[in-house]
Amino acid sequence: MPSAGPRPGQRRRAGSHGGAVRYRRSDGAAAAPGRFLVTDIERRQVSAPVPAGWDYAPAPEARDVVTIEERYGLFVGGEFVEPRSGDWYTTISPASEEPLAEVAQAGEDDVGVAVAAAREAFENGWPALPPSERAKYLFRIARILQERSREFAVLESLNGGKPIKESRDVDLPLAAAHFFYYAGWADKLEYAFPNRRPRPIGVAGQIIPWNFPLLMLAWKIAPALACGNTVVLKPAETTPLTALLFCDVLRQAELPPGVVNIVTGDGRTGAALVEADVDKIAFTGSTEVGKAIQRRVAGSGKRLTLELGGKAANVIFDDCALDQAVEGIVNGIYFNQGHVCCAGSRLLVQESIYEDVVAKLKRRMGTLRVGDPLDKNTDVGAINSRAQLDRIRELVRAGEEEGAEVYQPPCRLPERGYWFAPTVFTNVAQSYRIAQEEIFGPVLSVLTFRTPDEAVEKANNTPYGLSAGIWTEKGSRILWMAERLRAGVIWANTYNRFDPASPFGGYKESGFGREGGRHGLEPYLEFE
Ligand code: NDP
Repeated sequence: MPSAGPRPGQRRRAGSHGGAVRYRRSDGAAAAPGRFLVTDIERRQVSAPVPAGWDYAPAPEARDVVTIEERYGLFVGGEFVEPRSGDWYTTISPASEEPLAEVAQAGEDDVGVAVAAAREAFENGWPALPPSERAKYLFRIARILQERSREFAVLESLNGGKPIKESRDVDLPLAAAHFFYYAGWADKLEYAFPNRRPRPIGVAGQIIPWNFPLLMLAWKIAPALACGNTVVLKPAETTPLTALLFCDVLRQAELPPGVVNIVTGDGRTGAALVEADVDKIAFTGSTEVGKAIQRRVAGSGKRLTLELGGKAANVIFDDCALDQAVEGIVNGIYFNQGHVCCAGSRLLVQESIYEDVVAKLKRRMGTLRVGDPLDKNTDVGAINSRAQLDRIRELVRAGEEEGAEVYQPPCRLPERGYWFAPTVFTNVAQSYRIAQEEIFGPVLSVLTFRTPDEAVEKANNTPYGLSAGIWTEKGSRILWMAERLRAGVIWANTYNRFDPASPFGGYKESGFGREGGRHGLEPYLEFE
């Protein structure tokens, strides 16, 4: 960290040696007998190494707070079992490509056994428990997550590549908050839906992605359990470890066996879960896989909610607080390396402030620190997988070929692991792939507009409709825009803010159904 400047009553002395800064009292007086002058102390340390530049010292979070097993089976009926498939795969740290653990690849049979365990737990008591008892389990889970948050945050960053300050300050607090929030609803469902009699729907199959592994698990499991359902959850292939550690939390909370089952594996495991004897599928992931699942589920009677991709417009008007907006732009696209479905990946800037915004943005990008996810000073961590890195590279290449101008701040990327520097494209036309397709990486495309009408038209010119941002000092303009933007979540003068009480979900190819808030209960209930 940069050292502090002179303190009050002191001043910098010219001619300090070797870069060391020395001070003396401003009145030039000698120190009282028996007391040291700051200069005396520094003279004694003159042989000590002195930092040459104003740079951050490494600030690594300790890894030893978490114990990773060599191998993890499937969590079925309250215990870890060997996969019947006999298949295993290795999960790695994307920041170093270091193997972390062996994880089971669940086959169709394994998924069937997990669904049977969930069915049994559903039929033998979980929904019949007094709702306040169900709430107690959820409260316990929330509190244990808080108590063990450091352990979970380190594991999330190790396995997923996201900066520790994000997993520590965003993912973990929000995951715990989700359990707290839905614990509160468990015994109030009849008040949530007046004059209707809510009932749980049964066994939910839940499939989650790799960008917020534990948080997506919380978004799925907390409302399902609060409503009296049981679940089988499949984490993403690349990020299974926090879901597997979560099984330990379930045991600690003494959750009845079979209420939550975790099956690991790749897309084949997800496909098997879709086909299995479940009553509902809740999916978060790509639009392509979402469409395939919708086709499979059609006509089966299974309920479905899809939270898919996005290509959000972050709209900057010329009357906004510019510096705040620049922070919002950076947070909107570089948070979690841009692996965020609601990322503000299309920046729409009013033409009159375009030059200023781009200049400030580039300056700010130069201060982003890319590197070790476990370093507390890191702003941008590792890309989650080789496949995702290849996809980002392909789309960036397409942007350059189509004629956009690319900028990346100078930064040194680690030699091992998967990395991509924060990137911004200017001179982007709406038809370019980088303005249409979800890149899911730290890559921003900047477009311009002149009038609010044009901003709305361009913002809505996308197959997606998950989120949007508006930056202006006029409340009336925020409301005018929000009425016209086809996006499920709209932030005003902020970006990427989440709260368990607030519903989240999309329009168009971003999916359907809402998670979070009272709305998030509905997909897990039937009404008499
Ligand atoms: P996927 O949609 O493939 O993955 C999401 C989840 O679905 C994972 O658990 C995955 O397993 C599983 N899955 C894969 N195939 C099937 C299937 N046929 N049936 C059921 N489940 C399946 O996303 P990717 O990881 O491939 O990412 C590709 C792109 O998707 C990204 O570049 C990004 O654009 C978008 N994406 C969007 C997300 C969002 O939050 N909206 C989240 C993640 C990705 P497995 O991990 O083993 O493949």
